[in-house]
Amino acid sequence: MSGDTISPRHACVIGWPIGHSRSPMIHTHWIEKHGIDGTYTAKEVAPQDLAAFFEEMRSGAYVGCNVTMPHKEAVLQHLDVIDPFAKTVGAVNTVWVEDGRLHGMNTDGIGFLAHLDQTVPDWRARPVSGVTYILGAGGAARGIATALLDAGVRSILIGNRTVDRAKELVCELRHQFPDDGPAQSIAWTTFDELEGDTVALRLLVNATSLGMKGQPPVPQISWHNVVRSAIVYDIVYAPLETELLASARNRDLDTVDGLGMLLHQAVPGFEKWFGVRPEVTPELRALIEADL
Ligand code: NAP
Repeated sequence: MSGDTISPRHACVIGWPIGHSRSPMIHTHWIEKHGIDGTYTAKEVAPQDLAAFFEEMRSGAYVGCNVTMPHKEAVLQHLDVIDPFAKTVGAVNTVWVEDGRLHGMNTDGIGFLAHLDQTVPDWRARPVSGVTYILGAGGAARGIATALLDAGVRSILIGNRTVDRAKELVCELRHQFPDDGPAQSIAWTTFDELEGDTVALRLLVNATSLGMKGQPPVPQISWHNVVRSAIVYDIVYAPLETELLASARNRDLDTVDGLGMLLHQAVPGFEKWFGVRPEVTPELRALIEADL
């Protein structure tokens, strides 16, 4: 646990703006459940105030924080120790104080895989010859692609509106996972080509903001050729049932929503700050779902 004997312990989520974050609700639920002498609040921190905020943390005001947009990359320069996964992804979403030093990690990949394991427990055992298609090349897509490659998944296609960003991400991933074998299996594609690829689809992940409330949906996909074992995962969680998930469900495919990822990615931070590993329960899920 960080911070040793500090009590009460204060943690927070920082962002700019921060009003939309569900993190305070998640962590306050766990604080109350475990009777912890502590708080978790939302704190609006402007980019120019990041350094001052981390000085405050070093002086004991906070045992740690979550980091959300737009600070996930900028935060790296303020930390003393960054875990290898966060270094690879180039973004940090969880910070804690340990032995007077600021540590950072990225738990998006952990949350993504934990919820996939929970929802489709046999996903790793399903036919591995198919393609994993990730829509998006932003921070979330980067964490997810890295987590999947770390987990041994190969044959990954990255499709993004801005094709240059997809190419750049593919380049970085190939560099980080060079022993991919002769059939180079990390590639980029365009949204339009998705239709042709569905026949070999193993896992489709929407890691863009398409489908979020107020955003256009992911372009329609006709699933007519898709194999029955394919899985469709949308990391958007507001709304919980996106058009993409509804259409995949109509086709009897296994679907995974974005709320579980949000809940599971919160677990490691809570454990670092408060010394208790919390559980993602149906009760917590229902609490957050009611607020979406
Ligand atoms: P980001 O770094 O800003 O990336 C946004 C991505 O969405 C980019 O690939 C962007 O494409 C694409 N995009 C945005 N508007 C688009 C449009 N109109 N048409 C096509 N593509 C569009 O954001 P992020 O951090 O990766 O987050 C992406 C989404 O995942 C957000 O909705 C976020 O809420 C969600 N998320 C969920 C969780 C969870 O726990 N469930 C965790 C992290 C993020 P361009 O490169 O072309 O701009």
